[in-house]
Amino acid sequence: MRIVLVGPPGAGKGTQAALLAERLAIPHISTGDLFRANISQGTELGRKVESILREGGLVPDEITVAMAADRLAQPDAGDGFLLDGFPRNISQAKALDGMLVEAGHKLDAVLDLEVPEDEVVKRIAGRRTCRKDSSHAFHSTYRPPLKDGVCDVCDGELYQREDDREDTVRKRLSVYHQETEPIIDYYRAQGLVSTIPALAPVSEVTQRALDALPERAA
Ligand code: AMP
Repeated sequence: MRIVLVGPPGAGKGTQAALLAERLAIPHISTGDLFRANISQGTELGRKVESILREGGLVPDEITVAMAADRLAQPDAGDGFLLDGFPRNISQAKALDGMLVEAGHKLDAVLDLEVPEDEVVKRIAGRRTCRKDSSHAFHSTYRPPLKDGVCDVCDGELYQREDDREDTVRKRLSVYHQETEPIIDYYRAQGLVSTIPALAPVSEVTQRALDALPERAA
C-alpha cells in the first residue's frame, strides 16, 4: 500500500500515521520528523532548515523533494509506505508522481483528515511531544501524562514544539490553506481521496481510515 496522509496541523496525522503504518506493516515516513532529526543531530541540512521550521514556513521544494526521494529509495519503502507531511504543495505532488512512475508504482490512497479549525488550534496549543518518539503525543488537557513532562510510554522528555506556539500555528494553518489544500483536488481528480472525519477518539479515526482504504489493505 502506498498512502499519503493529508490534513491541517493538529488533525492527528502523526498519531494516525504511526497506528496505520503499524497495522499495515509499512514504514511511516514523516518529512517533519526527518527535518527535526536533522536539526537535533546538527547536520548541515538541519542547520539550513532550522529557522524555517521555527517560523512555520515551508522548506524549499528542492531540499524537501531530495530528502523524500532519498527516504523513499530505502529498501523498507519498496513495497509500500505511509507519507505524513509530504507532499505539501502541488509541485511536490508532481515530483512524487514522477518518482512513482519511474519506479513503476502508483499511489493507492490519499486520506484527508478533516478537523474544524478552532479544534485544531486548541489541540496544538496543548500538544506535548515526546523527544524520543514523536508518535507518543500528549495534551495538557485532553491527554495529560501521568507524570508532568515525562512520556508514559518510554519515559522520554515531553516538550512543546517551538512551532506549536499560537502565532506560528496560525502561520502554519494559513500555509496549509494556501499551499497544501490544493493537493486534495489534485488527487481527487485521480480518484484517490477519502475524507476522514477526524474529530473522534483516536481508535475510531484509525478504523475509519482503514475502512476507507482499497480492499487489500484493511
Ligand atoms: P510537520 O511535522 O509535518 O508538522 O512539519 C513541521 C515543519 O517541517 C513544517 O511546518 C515545515 O516547516 C517543515 N516541513 C515538513 N514537511 C514539509 C514539506 N513536505 N515541505 C516543506 N516543508 C516541510
